Amino acid sequence: MSENEVIQQNLNTVREKIKAAAERAGRNPEEITLIAVSKTKPLPMLQAAYDAGQRVFGENKVQEICEKYPAMPQDIAWHMIGHLQTNKVRSVIGKTAMIHSVDSIKLAAEIQKEAQKHSVICDVLIEVNIAGEDSKYGFSAKDVPAFAEELAKLPNLRLRGLMTVAPFTENPEENRKYFRQMKQLSVDINKKNIDNICMDTLSMGMTGDYEIAVEEGATMVRVGTGIFGERNYNIN
Ligand SMILES: *Cc1c(COP(=O)(O)O)cnc(C)c1O
Repeated sequence: MSENEVIQQNLNTVREKIKAAAERAGRNPEEITLIAVSKTKPLPMLQAAYDAGQRVFGENKVQEICEKYPAMPQDIAWHMIGHLQTNKVRSVIGKTAMIHSVDSIKLAAEIQKEAQKHSVICDVLIEVNIAGEDSKYGFSAKDVPAFAEELAKLPNLRLRGLMTVAPFTENPEENRKYFRQMKQLSVDINKKNIDNICMDTLSMGMTGDYEIAVEEGATMVRVGTGIFGERNYNIN
């Protein structure tokens, strides 16, 4: 099989697994968006996914989004899923459909400033460090509701929901409890009926655990390795 065929077959497999997981949970598979995480991967691989119908891509570095954005078809929705430094916000405004990684008030304020300058509304998610890992960015669960209320005051941000990177584990069942906590947190925030927020998005689940995330309510899953294969950071 050619590299393109492998990517297309992987994509179909992931789509089918998402559909099956949704059906197991009594959910409509159309509620779930697959984000193809293309970080470190070259343009021809992205194009192969595009040719197989994929229109939503995720990247974790501003520089990579800025390089790939102009080189790929314009109907792609790019999602910024990695830690974003305030001094790089300017470069992604207008290029990204959603920023998943809002992890500080300072970053939110900077997005507000740049979005206002460009007269755009920026869809964002709050990154949650659901397992309280030292190595991870994001708010601890207990701080999320108050932060959501702060975000709601920023007119050029539209809070769409929550995102998490669950712990790395060999056994994805271990992450089920975290996905459940994320869903509950999202429901709790929704109940507060805060103006100017629309908590319809739950971005969780990666190659190792996306099926469980879908069973527990994910509306966006971010899959890289399962589509494009292992990443080799040494050559990039
Ligand atoms: C790299 C990355 C992913 C995809 O990881 P895989 O395990 O390759 O599917 C998802 N989310 C974030 C935030 C990432 O940085």
